[in-house]
Amino acid sequence: MNLLEYEAKSIMKTFGIPVPVGSVVAEKNDPVDTPCVIKSQVPIGGRGKAGGVVVVQSEDKVSEVIERLLCLGIKGFTPTHLLAEELLSIERELYLSLTINRSSEQIELIAHREGGVEIESHSPDEFFTRALPGRGFDGVGDTLADYYNLPEKSFVVQELVENLYRCFTDSDATLLEINPLCLTHDGRLVAGDGKMTLDDAAAYRHPDWQFEAKPANRNFVVLDQEGAVASLANGAGLAMATVDAIAAQGLKPANFLDIGGAATPETILRSFQQITALPNVTAIVINIFGGIVRCDDVAQAILEAQSHLPELPRLVVRLSGNRADEAKTLLAASGLNLHPTLTSCLEELLS
Ligand code: GDP
Ligand code: MN
Repeated sequence: MNLLEYEAKSIMKTFGIPVPVGSVVAEKNDPVDTPCVIKSQVPIGGRGKAGGVVVVQSEDKVSEVIERLLCLGIKGFTPTHLLAEELLSIERELYLSLTINRSSEQIELIAHREGGVEIESHSPDEFFTRALPGRGFDGVGDTLADYYNLPEKSFVVQELVENLYRCFTDSDATLLEINPLCLTHDGRLVAGDGKMTLDDAAAYRHPDWQFEAKPANRNFVVLDQEGAVASLANGAGLAMATVDAIAAQGLKPANFLDIGGAATPETILRSFQQITALPNVTAIVINIFGGIVRCDDVAQAILEAQSHLPELPRLVVRLSGNRADEAKTLLAASGLNLHPTLTSCLEELLS
């Protein structure tokens, strides 16, 4: 489950990780101190670039910014809450995260000297990485502070990494990311943004996990973070066959997704959002066999979800079975070609 920023920061704070002073806002007249930064609480990155992070200097602008942000959809998500925080006076933006390296079976620290909204423009081999095999990882503060070019901060950096490690393991997190980690003009290191993914399988031992964020779709599996062709099918068998067929054509499948029998506009929208979070997807193959599920319901759901996500990659659709003719009419009206078979879907992709 991907926590919202305010949820992640409230956990981080309990582990002694410095976060800005802030409050959660849900209505335009909620009290907010200025100057401040007001941030949309949607479970997706890239809010800064999408206009979801706004600096407010004077009090008379607050309610207008709150109203605007509460209506601003970002990649298909509309926030129910905003986070208003003290404005940081930022000298440098750094990057710091902990994640699980599944090959080495260790928790791995990843850092970069230049954090912020352009982090994805750095190539993977540019990052500082270090395995954290357990408690007592002495020396990481020195090495990392040197890497950041902040040698005088080695003690602070060491403490930050130790706190992050405790936060990560005690919370059963699979990702803990601070981007930007802000160096302020008065010399503090503060988490400007906080992202946390919790392991849904550990929920049974965390009765305290009462979040606005929703657990991830269990039937969605990322197969290849760099994959180019995403897929969405109903039924695990058909979903596996779809992935295999994509790979057999020499294309790189990005994910496995079984949407099950409930293809509502909400579930399709959520699936598209998970797919568009993958960086290299250029096409989505939709492969539905309508038995109980009505193909025209699925078509309607696809069109609705599509209207919320203007930057959706190309859709290649095969719907067959129950009410496929009606589905074809619906999709044709919006310029989408309905394929009779998966083979012809893939032919279109390769042509
Ligand atoms: P994201 O785009 O979803 O990752 O949202 P972030 O919370 O990382 O904010 C994006 C950018 O907004 C940051 O990289 C900063 O440059 C800027 N920003 C966020 N908070 C502050 C702040 O308190 N002061 C200043 N000056 N800039 C901020
Ligand atoms: Mn960020």
